[in-house]
Amino acid sequence: MSSMNLNAFFSDSYADARQKFLAACEARGAPVISYPHPLRGAEGEALFTDVARIGPEHADRVLVVESALHGVEGYTGSAIQIAALASSNAPQPPEGVALLLVHAINPWGFSWNRRFNEDNIDLNRHFLNWENPGKLDNPGYDDLASALVPREITPEAMAEADAVMERYKETHGKEVFRTAIKRGQYKHPDGLFYGGLKPSWSALTVERIAKEHLSEATWAGLIDIHTGLGPFGVGECLSGEAPDSDEGRRASSWYGHVAHTKSPKTDYAGSEASILDGYKRAAPWLVWTPVGLEFGTREEKVVRDAVRMDGWLHLYGSPEHPLSGKVKKNMLYAYYPAEPEWRAAIVERGLEVVRLGLAGLAAQERA
Ligand SMILES: [Zn+2]
Repeated sequence: MSSMNLNAFFSDSYADARQKFLAACEARGAPVISYPHPLRGAEGEALFTDVARIGPEHADRVLVVESALHGVEGYTGSAIQIAALASSNAPQPPEGVALLLVHAINPWGFSWNRRFNEDNIDLNRHFLNWENPGKLDNPGYDDLASALVPREITPEAMAEADAVMERYKETHGKEVFRTAIKRGQYKHPDGLFYGGLKPSWSALTVERIAKEHLSEATWAGLIDIHTGLGPFGVGECLSGEAPDSDEGRRASSWYGHVAHTKSPKTDYAGSEASILDGYKRAAPWLVWTPVGLEFGTREEKVVRDAVRMDGWLHLYGSPEHPLSGKVKKNMLYAYYPAEPEWRAAIVERGLEVVRLGLAGLAAQERA
């Protein structure tokens, strides 16, 4: 794929991404419904989640492809969505199947180059049963909170905090360490991976999308696009259910190799309350086959440190802080590689997974 083609899909800002997405929808003749966000973006721009539909209005099978649940990861999801509209290689939904593109479900995080949303919520730890959330303790995070987001981010302060984390890992083991960080936590609203205790704007928007775009369907797939985990440029599908469950079996039959996030063997978060649960809860009348699509970027420590420093900026700094530019540059380096070979691989694999999802839906037996 030539770099000229790639530049048509990838963007330099949320506003740029939105403009390209809307232009591609118009060129394809795909109708768009826009959900305005109450806040402004980093450049003072208005923020929206935009939903475009390709294929029949009354389809009983719908594949949802979503970008920017983790804001800064939205550049990649947006590029795949734009390629799905505009690429010469764009997938064509089979008869009776519609493709629903949910562009920037966390537009605030996208615009500000944060993983989290305007409430500092990690939306992939967020989709609880809010009336009855159950036990939400994460004692490991409590132990590590001040090392994960240290008071200073000088190299010396970071090294000291790293040593605390290293000791914790040696004492408690790798599994416990990983759970402490990745499970999500509900006690430190200004910390990392905070799940939030009441529905966010994005969660309410997911509910509206379900009601307004999925009410006539029977079968649905979700491809929720992420970056930051796994080998450079490789896109892996993740299921939230066990491989031998009906849903896990469908995911494997549609997509081939699928990692299962709740298996103790994976590097993935294993978080409950992910967006995969979120769509199921918002549209329980559907038979769902939701997957995350995770693209690897940099070494795990590079990605984690970028989030830690961004967490520091949120907790102790401000957008005007002299280190703000450096922190945001790190976030982009960690989550949005500029290498053309990475970007070409993302588009190719992204379109492949979309095509597999559409074919999987088309192959389901009529109810
Ligand atoms: Zn993510």
